[in-house]
Amino acid sequence: MVMGDLVTEVDVAVVGGGPGGYTAAFRCAELGLETAVVDEGRRLGGACLFEGCIPSKALLHVAAVLAEAERAREFGVDFGEPRVSLDPLRKWKTERVVGKLARGLASVAKAKGVEIIGGRAVFEDSRTLRVEGEAPQKVRFTHAIVATGSRPTGLPGFTGERVIDSTAALELPDVPERLLVIGGGYIGLELGQVYAALGSKVTLVEMTDGLLPGVDRDLVQPVARRCEKLFAEIRLNTQVTPQDAAAFDRVLVAVGRRPASGGLGLETTRARPDARGFLPVDEQCRTADPHVRAVGDVTGEPMLAHRAMRQGVVAAEAIAGRPVAFDNVVVPAVVFTDPEVAWCGLTEAQAQRDGRAVRVAKFQWAASGRATTLGRADGLTKLVADGETGRVLGVGIVGPGAGELIAEGALAVETALTVEDLAATIHAHPTLSETLMEAAETLLRQR
Ligand code: FAD
Ligand code: NAD
Repeated sequence: MVMGDLVTEVDVAVVGGGPGGYTAAFRCAELGLETAVVDEGRRLGGACLFEGCIPSKALLHVAAVLAEAERAREFGVDFGEPRVSLDPLRKWKTERVVGKLARGLASVAKAKGVEIIGGRAVFEDSRTLRVEGEAPQKVRFTHAIVATGSRPTGLPGFTGERVIDSTAALELPDVPERLLVIGGGYIGLELGQVYAALGSKVTLVEMTDGLLPGVDRDLVQPVARRCEKLFAEIRLNTQVTPQDAAAFDRVLVAVGRRPASGGLGLETTRARPDARGFLPVDEQCRTADPHVRAVGDVTGEPMLAHRAMRQGVVAAEAIAGRPVAFDNVVVPAVVFTDPEVAWCGLTEAQAQRDGRAVRVAKFQWAASGRATTLGRADGLTKLVADGETGRVLGVGIVGPGAGELIAEGALAVETALTVEDLAATIHAHPTLSETLMEAAETLLRQR
């Protein structure tokens, strides 16, 4: 046998080892299907583990610790001026956080008998993948799951060593004195806060008239205020040119992500990306080709890891013949800033735009015992409920821990709970979770 003659035959070939891909592969293996994952990096974790969710949250944890130490002065505890050593910080993030989780995924794959093939996969037809790279081979499959994810969008003219995307920013090349962040979305705010905490003078520019476009303004306000404190400047309604950027030591471009569907040989199958490059899928994650399914960022918005994972389960179970559908009502969203912003389901702004008859209740954290003990009165919990039935349609939370609290909101919307259900459920005291119950009680009192 010469290199290139190798042919692996499997029931399911998964292209891409990110959260969508590895979740699908693990579930396929559990259901008795012979499964292989082809990943360019020959590792499981994808953008989420190596250049996204996990390293960014590790660095945001560091930023949160620094902020807490600063706040502690208010109640008489002074730790002195913090000193941040970049080498140990990088090592902790890369080895103790990312490395540990990567090793965990590799051992799960081994335990479940999922083969991981290194290389770039290209479709040759609806039953065959060609794997390019160090160990070229073919993979023959009955079913393929495309889970190739997404890549950062660049900005024309913004090139050169000083210009970085989120992947490079998470490597912490240095702490630039003056950092320009282009884009006031998830990445701009999260990584802007990280670099500001580490000591950079951050200027953030956002093209639209507010940070986190699409999110209810009252939820954005507390994080916008915090950013105003942390950042040197925030400029809204602003687009910058490469010349404007010359005054900065580094420029982080964070203007969105695009699907990784190019160069995959999809034209040899019946699966066709849409005009934006996303692969349209149905409720069983089927593309237009009966042998090809797709999950995760490559299938569209919202480009979030937990959506990719749920789709991965659905695709695997559908292949195994189980009655399953990606029919989830909500995909919760969390921006892990200080304070965190989280929402799920119908937003107040969307309800207004659609002219829906809803009732909205807001509970300010200034009245929460737990928030007060934490010195964090800047939060807000909001419920959007159906005007007639009282069914919870949407939940929005801003404040520390909002990312954890939103799980109750997601469960409420997904399982069609009513505001009465939330109000009548005993929530432990004193906790921030009580704010959901309080918001529900506020809404009931409005009647
Ligand atoms: P990906 O994770 O992108 O994985 C795709 C994999 O496929 C990669 O390993 C890639 O190398 C491989 N691949 C691509 N093409 C080929 C090919 N032809 N052959 C072989 N392999 C291929 N989401 C959250 O839910 N929470 C967060 O906190 C969060 N934080 C983020 C922070 C940052 C800075 C970024 C950039 C993203 C963040 N996201 C977050 C988004 C999250 O990372 C993505 O939604 C998620 O990774 C998508 O998973 P996926 O499986 O679709 O693809
Ligand atoms: P984004 O879509 O969240 O935000 C991009 C921002 O850039 C928008 O506010 C947009 O108006 C602005 N913008 C676009 N062009 C611009 C320009 N020329 N000048 C100034 N501003 C401009 O995208 P992102 O922050 O790059 O993140 C990409 C995706 O990754 C997110 O949409 C999300 O799906 C995922 N992500 C999720 C998390 C999380 O779940 N916590 C964290 C990071 C990233």
